[in-house]
Amino acid sequence: MAGRVDLDGNPIKPITICMIGAGGFIGSHLCEKLMSETPHKVLAVDVSNDKIKHLLEPATLAWADRIEFHRINIKNDSRLEGLIKMADLTINLAAICTPADYNTRPLDTIYSNFIDALPVVKYCSENGKRLIHFSTCEIYGKTIGAFLPKDSPLRQDPAYYVLKEDASPCIFGPIEKQRWSYACAKQLIERLIYAEGAENGLEFTIVRPFNWIGPRMDFIPGIDGPSEGVPRVLACFSNNLLRREPLKLVDGGESQRTFIYIKDAIEAVLLMIENPARANGHIFNVGNPNNEVTVRQLAEMMTKVYSKVSGESSLETPTIDVSSKEFYGEGYDDSDKRIPDMTIINKQLAWNPKTSLWDLLESTLTYQHRTYAEAIKQAMSKSTAN
Ligand code: NAD
Ligand code: UDP
Repeated sequence: MAGRVDLDGNPIKPITICMIGAGGFIGSHLCEKLMSETPHKVLAVDVSNDKIKHLLEPATLAWADRIEFHRINIKNDSRLEGLIKMADLTINLAAICTPADYNTRPLDTIYSNFIDALPVVKYCSENGKRLIHFSTCEIYGKTIGAFLPKDSPLRQDPAYYVLKEDASPCIFGPIEKQRWSYACAKQLIERLIYAEGAENGLEFTIVRPFNWIGPRMDFIPGIDGPSEGVPRVLACFSNNLLRREPLKLVDGGESQRTFIYIKDAIEAVLLMIENPARANGHIFNVGNPNNEVTVRQLAEMMTKVYSKVSGESSLETPTIDVSSKEFYGEGYDDSDKRIPDMTIINKQLAWNPKTSLWDLLESTLTYQHRTYAEAIKQAMSKSTAN
């Protein structure tokens, strides 16, 4: 760790980071990176620490004096301001961020993504502390191209679909499509942070993740999460593969996504943390434009990769179609296509993703198989016995 320098060649000083939502998917990878590769200290705030237990115990770990866990619900805990004051930088990851919740629990979604983030922004602004806030690529909503006729050649023109932080509009569906409750709440908190920067000098960075995936994402229903829960697509498809069920393609699986390996994305976040002069005042897309697939193609690739890593043959009918109403309920809607423009992050942080979709699925599904295959087998044999 000795002699670490930032992108401008200046030595990096150890800092204290208040990380809210540190016990989640992204938080757990960021804590891991900060502990193993940097001298920084983390005040890890979350309601749960299951995904970072390996970093907190035993007390003999090399970084034991650099990470402390605070079990705090930021909705109602007066200790939050004290922790933000103790830190040099606050990173806010806390959110309800699974699409199955947006239309079925819109109030919780809006409160979590807007109201609960307000005090965090306020404490940072009032105490002159830097903030890195996690927003979402979903802020862009649908592409302009989605409104062109299906056979229009303009649909092939990047001007109609590439998503640019400082130029693309945010296009959401009508209010009754409650899917957009999340994107809208995230948009308003982005605008508030931006305004705090403009009017009160808040030093901020906003991150817009584009489908970061990897180990520890969400949960496997009935194993380490509720049986009826619906996680994001990686965990849904992993669950289907582990149980030897067909993968469910919502509305034909035609939506397109770009997936990025969590470890590539974490490199970008570390650059933001350690290069404040280059990151402050910016909104960054963080994704991998080279890893675009339709959800159907993702299902096909995951089926092949899983077969390779598990040694099990694929099902004769590996996928089935399901309507969004049946899968998510009333009020679901979808983003059609998400390609991040990389100009700003390239220019400010000289960062690019590295890992191909095949490679990231191979390491992730190896983890899923190793972690869950036995537990699923036992759960399934128990339920047949009953
Ligand atoms: P996650 O659900 O795994 O992590 C969120 C963490 O926040 C959880 O551990 C949860 O317990 C915690 N949390 C929620 N409410 C809290 C509260 N009131 N008090 C304390 N802790 C609370 O999700 P993630 O994938 O790690 O996402 C982190 C952030 O990145 C979120 O803001 C999300 O909107 C954003 N994001 C992620 C992706 C992605 O690809 N993973 C994409 C777009 C946006
Ligand atoms: N999806 C699917 N089957 C599933 C889960 C999700 O077809 O079992 C689709 C979903 O409709 C969306 C895409 O996969 O088009 C990505 O969903 P995810 O929940 O990962 O989040 P999003 O990218 O929409 O934020």
